Amino acid sequence: MNAATYKSAVKPTWCPGCGDFGVLAGITQALAEVGWEPQNVVAVSGIGCSSRFPFFLSTYGFHSIHGRALPVAIGIRVARPDLKVLVFGGDGDGFAIGGGHFLHGARRNVDLTYVIMDNHIYGLTKGQTSPTSDLHFKTKSTPYGSVEPPINPVQTALSSGATYVARGFSGDPKGLKDLFVGGMRHKGFALIDVLSPCVTYNRVDTFKSFKERLVEIPPDHDRGDLIAALRLAMDPQRLYTGVLYEVERPVFEDRVDALKSRLDRPWFDVVEDVFDRMS
Ligand code: SF4
Repeated sequence: MNAATYKSAVKPTWCPGCGDFGVLAGITQALAEVGWEPQNVVAVSGIGCSSRFPFFLSTYGFHSIHGRALPVAIGIRVARPDLKVLVFGGDGDGFAIGGGHFLHGARRNVDLTYVIMDNHIYGLTKGQTSPTSDLHFKTKSTPYGSVEPPINPVQTALSSGATYVARGFSGDPKGLKDLFVGGMRHKGFALIDVLSPCVTYNRVDTFKSFKERLVEIPPDHDRGDLIAALRLAMDPQRLYTGVLYEVERPVFEDRVDALKSRLDRPWFDVVEDVFDRMS
């Protein structure tokens, strides 16, 4: 299998030059590297330009509703633990209406890979300020400039309990491929925040302006050190790219299975257990 195996016959409908093309290239290469069979993979998305992603893959797909990609993905993961779950969406979908789901998906440590295409704007609805837009950012919805400080996706993922947190750039599909492979092989909630310019509606956060701030994570960074990861995530000037954090922790679906097997036992066994623990 190679990258082409995972591309569907549907041609992407993104604007020419959109950063999301780099993400698609990185994902198909990553799928080829991990070698997952397309019929064993489900791509789930919400609503937005980047949420069209499942159409362009030859895997199973679920194009859900705005901000609800994670509840759908978590349901699939718990009901069908034999399937691999990839989630795709934008910064608006993931951190505005889907913000609550993000926190709980991360703290539960559900085993899935979530790719945010972070362009700091709403593209599908033609250019409004999003939760990751910078302070003072001017758009149709904030003509005098945004008065809200932005959400930092990697900082939010780290402080919510995600167990694999990375930042990438859609101008570097090869680097993205490596981050995606790491996320797919990781057992737990993997968040990869991809700086992915909207070339049509965002003239501030461009390939050039992102590139000027990108710095690779130093090789001596300890991926198991949450405070060190937060320090890199919160740097006010530099945008560190690479894997900020990676640790092992029990996943949600294994806990649900354990609960189910407990409930399968006769009720008096369970009651006896409870009394044993109380005594
Ligand atoms: Fe990409 Fe922006 Fe076009 Fe949407 S509007 S496809 S985000 S360039």
